[in-house]
Amino acid sequence: MPKSTSHLSQNEGLIFERSSLGRSGYDLPPSDVPDPDLALALGSENVRESIAGFPELSELDVVRHFTRLSTWNYSIDTGFYPLGSCTMKYNPRINERVARFEGIAYTHPLAPEPFVQGNLEILKTLGDLLVEITGMDAASLQPPAGASGELAGVMMIRALLSDRGNPRQKILIPDSAHGTNPASASIAGYKVESLKSDAHGCISLAALESAMNADVAALMLTNPNTLGIFERNIVHITEIVHRRGGLVYMDGANLNALMGLAWPGDFGIDVMHMNLHKTMSTPHGGGGPGAGPVVVKKTLEPYLPSPVVACDALGRYFLDHDRPRSIGKLKAYYGNFGTLVRALCYILANGSAGLREASSTAILNANYLKHKLRDHYDLPYDEPVLHEVVFSNKRQAQQHLSVMDIAKRLMDYGFHPPTVAFPLIVPGALMIEPTETEGKAELDLFAEAMKAIAAEAESNPDLLRSAPHATRVKRLDEVQAARRPVLRWKPPGIS
Ligand SMILES: *Cc1c(COP(=O)(O)O)cnc(C)c1O
Repeated sequence: MPKSTSHLSQNEGLIFERSSLGRSGYDLPPSDVPDPDLALALGSENVRESIAGFPELSELDVVRHFTRLSTWNYSIDTGFYPLGSCTMKYNPRINERVARFEGIAYTHPLAPEPFVQGNLEILKTLGDLLVEITGMDAASLQPPAGASGELAGVMMIRALLSDRGNPRQKILIPDSAHGTNPASASIAGYKVESLKSDAHGCISLAALESAMNADVAALMLTNPNTLGIFERNIVHITEIVHRRGGLVYMDGANLNALMGLAWPGDFGIDVMHMNLHKTMSTPHGGGGPGAGPVVVKKTLEPYLPSPVVACDALGRYFLDHDRPRSIGKLKAYYGNFGTLVRALCYILANGSAGLREASSTAILNANYLKHKLRDHYDLPYDEPVLHEVVFSNKRQAQQHLSVMDIAKRLMDYGFHPPTVAFPLIVPGALMIEPTETEGKAELDLFAEAMKAIAAEAESNPDLLRSAPHATRVKRLDEVQAARRPVLRWKPPGIS
């Protein structure tokens, strides 16, 4: 059975256009207390009878509007989402249940420590487990995103080297890195030097040897890298950097490949971040709350963002603000608590055997798709892969088809497209990350769709060029959308 089919999908105007004067979504009894003097309380310039253009609708209008809009969306709950590097795995409902427990969801972040021992214990336990999963020594849960964890890590490296009286100017970053890596290094005040990958898609030891001098503060690498390939020389790599007085930062956004199988602390990493919104199954996408905790080796522990959650001799949890060498506070309060709760729930529900199985299955699924599709799409680096596999459009490019044409056509088959055009070292990259939560049936459907598209590229390339055909809106002008977005509705007559 094909995955996509035609289905009634209603049109929906803007909520402003549905507005009708005087409609409202509430019905309150008349007030039996005197009206407050708003002008006195707020200042008369802030008091208005109504807001121009504010939509007036009934409760049912509002419910239908947003429910209909929600059905236009593609989500992990509606289908396979192989967006490489993003780890779009299923978010188990048990996590959501627990995050909504009253004592968890409604605690005020400024509640006194003795009243929130349970919440502090959640944070401490999660930090300790992340340390164990990565083989590091200490954690901070403050960074609210992967990029923020990177910045925290690089700032800690900077602080340590300047305390040693040996500040350095540069950070080395492989050319396959995620764009946030050079951005974070640069925001922290470093010059970025790009390291060329070798023919296997890994860091070239020769290139590292020649670039690693006394001006290099750190090497910032991703392992497995963005090609899904494990850096087989990782121990040698960290030795080279350490021998010359540098530190090694690991972008751990791809931790989904390693849980219970490899420990970054063992292969010489000094500091890394994780993306809990990826690996630990908390909802993400659309810029919502995330969590990019950092874990460090002992040498960097004094520099962790302040405060850290600690436990005294009597077993009481507290927030330790007395950290003179800390890089300071990174985020209001202690991180995105709800996301952290979901991550802890995921870890405890799986246990160590479950986490190992998750990573093993993620690796199996990526290799399965690699095997299924290798006769139909070009494989620029034919190496054993871990959690994701990168193909390219090299064969379809002979028909002058771009990677975007393939991605758009995949939507007609009912799938979210993979990541395209990243990593940058692969021209026309198609980066597929199935994750462990997809079963064989879904992977087979996806592989069949990809194969059908490869055949269409030969027989009817125009079909791809004009795709998508089965979606609510056809091909959009992405350049205009990015350069000249219209983000605000204005009432007619108001410019
Ligand atoms: C997702 C990702 C990041 C950035 O994480 P954010 O939470 O989006 O800031 C960094 N590096 C890699 C390899 C990633 O996949």
